[in-house]
Amino acid sequence: MKVPFLDLGAAHGEIREELENTYHRVMASARFVLGEELERFESEFGAYCGAGHCVGVGSGLDALHLALRACGVSPGDEVIVPSQTFIATWLAVSCCGATPVPVEPDPRTSTLDPSRIEEAVTPRTVAIVPVHLYGRVAEMDPIWEVARRRGLAVVEDAAQAHGARYRGRRAGALADAAAFSFYPGKNLGALGDGGAVVTDDPAIAERVRLLRNYGSRVKYEHEVAGVNSRLDDLQAGFLRVKLRHLEDWNARRSRVAHRYLQAWSEREDLFLPPGPDPDEPAWHLFVIRHPRREALRAHLEAQGVSTLIHYPVPPHRSGAYQGRTEHGGELAVAEELSRTVLSLPIGPHLSYDQAGAVIEAIESFPEAAR
Ligand SMILES: *Cc1c(COP(=O)(O)O)cnc(C)c1O
Repeated sequence: MKVPFLDLGAAHGEIREELENTYHRVMASARFVLGEELERFESEFGAYCGAGHCVGVGSGLDALHLALRACGVSPGDEVIVPSQTFIATWLAVSCCGATPVPVEPDPRTSTLDPSRIEEAVTPRTVAIVPVHLYGRVAEMDPIWEVARRRGLAVVEDAAQAHGARYRGRRAGALADAAAFSFYPGKNLGALGDGGAVVTDDPAIAERVRLLRNYGSRVKYEHEVAGVNSRLDDLQAGFLRVKLRHLEDWNARRSRVAHRYLQAWSEREDLFLPPGPDPDEPAWHLFVIRHPRREALRAHLEAQGVSTLIHYPVPPHRSGAYQGRTEHGGELAVAEELSRTVLSLPIGPHLSYDQAGAVIEAIESFPEAAR
């Protein structure tokens, strides 16, 4: 049996008619930028997250960048980021002219280790960006506690966590602001690029609205040097359709995750994500770790099971940040994770039998061979 990593075709097949109706409606309206469809999506997604404001922008990277700028991050500042994340978290800080300062994740959860934040704080530190990696919300209570004590802003990188909950509250409503991505492969994905800043703070929302539209509120009056980064109405319309299915699709991901967790609980060579869990991750990815990752990956591929690696190169090892002395310290956890992580198929359209095939393929990999 062939098991694709993620079947977007199946996802769109399930809602094809709704998407096509949206396309025709937006075409007929001839409002493609900063129109009514965008306004509706913003109020629906903000309400879904439990936050007062949502501002649609061009991508997840732009959402992070503009949220940080709206929180006051400026050239010369330092911003604490996880050492293990998608590089966009770091790039957003660089876009502000600030310096990303990596802090290692807790290997158990793969999210920012709150106990290691304070030693990275300097007089130039202005913000922390916890990443809800793989769909699991970072340890926001202790992170918030450090931030308040040191006077730092907190911006969630929620690009992988649409609908995830922490202590009963949703990602997006857990800090000063949150950045979402609607890249097609995310839990809530557009049919192209997109992103949003979600916040309860009207001043931050207003600032992002200004920045995303050339720094302009009134046409041809430019108050600040902004950018052009607006979620377009066609994508907003598609996202409104997909938002209505998000809870159901996240629940399907969660069922697959719990089946995997149960099936492999006795395997000593596999490191599994934590669960069952008092919080509800969005299960964007199901990431295991294995000391012989390449051999396991080849074995799964031979059984027809596609896998990916999130991420093979930690940001500090990438060309973009190599040789920068401020990241000179040992980042042993990030490096270890980059060598051992393996992401298994978990999309909402993975069938029961396909998940069964993944389970069998793992089981047929000899444990002793490590
Ligand atoms: C996808 C992603 C981003 C960037 O989103 P884009 O829409 O691709 O710009 C940022 N952070 C994390 C953790 C992501 O997974």
